[in-house]
Amino acid sequence: MSQFPRYRGKMEYVCQECGRRYPADRLLYSCPHCGGVPLLEDTNFPELKKKSGLAWREIFDKRQMTRIPVLKGVFRFYELLAPVFDEEDIVYLGEGSTPIVEAAPRLCEEIGVKFAFKNEGQNPSASFKDRGMACAFSFLKWMSRTKNLDEILAICASTGDTSAAAALYGAWTGPPVNTVVILPKGKVTPQQLGQPLGSGAIVLELPGVFDDCMKVVELLAEKYNVALLNSKNSWRILGQESYAYEVAQWYGWDLRDVCLFAPIGNAGNITAILSGLLKMYDLGVIPVLPRVFGAQSDHANPVYRYFSEPEAKRMWHPVKVRPSVAQAAMIGDPVSFPRVRKLAKRYTELAGHDAFQVVSVSEQEIMDATIVANRNGHIACTQGGECFAALMRAKRNGLLREGEKAVLDSTAHILKFANFQNMYFDNSLPPEYGISSKPELSAHPVSLLEDVRREDLDTASFAALGAEAVVSALSLKKL
Ligand SMILES: *Cc1c(COP(=O)(O)O)cnc(C)c1O
Ligand SMILES: [Zn+2]
Repeated sequence: MSQFPRYRGKMEYVCQECGRRYPADRLLYSCPHCGGVPLLEDTNFPELKKKSGLAWREIFDKRQMTRIPVLKGVFRFYELLAPVFDEEDIVYLGEGSTPIVEAAPRLCEEIGVKFAFKNEGQNPSASFKDRGMACAFSFLKWMSRTKNLDEILAICASTGDTSAAAALYGAWTGPPVNTVVILPKGKVTPQQLGQPLGSGAIVLELPGVFDDCMKVVELLAEKYNVALLNSKNSWRILGQESYAYEVAQWYGWDLRDVCLFAPIGNAGNITAILSGLLKMYDLGVIPVLPRVFGAQSDHANPVYRYFSEPEAKRMWHPVKVRPSVAQAAMIGDPVSFPRVRKLAKRYTELAGHDAFQVVSVSEQEIMDATIVANRNGHIACTQGGECFAALMRAKRNGLLREGEKAVLDSTAHILKFANFQNMYFDNSLPPEYGISSKPELSAHPVSLLEDVRREDLDTASFAALGAEAVVSALSLKKL
């Protein structure tokens, strides 16, 4: 008998503005009544509460040893994600179960707080977006199976990683799903452009920034029968909740004195993290809610600006972004902001007014932090560096309590953002970023034997000469 979970939920889209509800078996990205963003809710969720928190922990712990491949990824937490799919619907490409890597003791000592990176760059397309895509594409497979759809055009705007993930999951899924990605021309890194091309997606470039592309895709989703793959897609949020579940499980379901730091761009990730933590708390899976810190760059910080005002004076204003090395989070009008506002309210009511905060950091701090992290054995992308910079800023500003430790979301792999690292090393970042390279954090290859022509020498003479040059470059002493 299959060990696939038997529980089935009843999923509904719930508008976060007006509260109207819609059945889950349709493509829906904004409320037809008021235009608000929805989230998915399992109306059978109270049934899950018949089991104790402890019982759920045991189920999820046991499932870590499952032999069912589709339960090895984010669907380890099937009942909390999208418990309407059958086994055959689920797309699993190796996402999730990313490691939490403790920072070396000397680095923790230097900044005065213990911390670790959760390496989301170790997902298949090298960012956390794969968690959401696994769920979004499973939904499309479920829809095409149960509704007999013979064509689904899946589309997204992207700061680079959404399109890489969408294209990868689209390539695996294949017909009836076709994947199209829309990119702001020149605003994604070469690696991020190569990824969707390599996966065979249709790649369309538009002038402007991400926010402009997003508006185009939103218009398309309103007027045409297309599946939108941005984090406005509520199925993606469900998949990304797995990040929070994994952090809790890693620490034995005890998140007391843990602070989670995550970058905020379009605010889907922070939505998923807050939502996931609240669900676990509601079920008694975690007895204590951890503190959550959002991180933004001074060049794209609308969410920081909102939350830094006293509660009574808070007003939402999108900002015009300036160039940021945390390019994947360079968003001035985050689609998920209404979700965050609502979830943050509930979160702080339950866990205290300082349980959710947003920290803004300079471009210089982001880039320096990225380099420092990676010089100490991490693989942090610039958004991971943004979290690290936010942690240091929070520490300096006295926002952290004695004994707290931090888990930083390194949302992608540094290899995707190598161009920023290399521009830093060459001190060639365009002036708009406002970053000057610190010589002590820069690195360059040392070129040896520059006046030697290899073809003039036989192998042995070349080796002797080469060794001599290395000895002199490193000042090696003989035994
Ligand atoms: C998408 C992305 C972000 C921002 O996440 P949101 O859900 O848009 O807030 C941060 N870092 C990386 C690497 C990303 O790809
Ligand atoms: Zn509504």
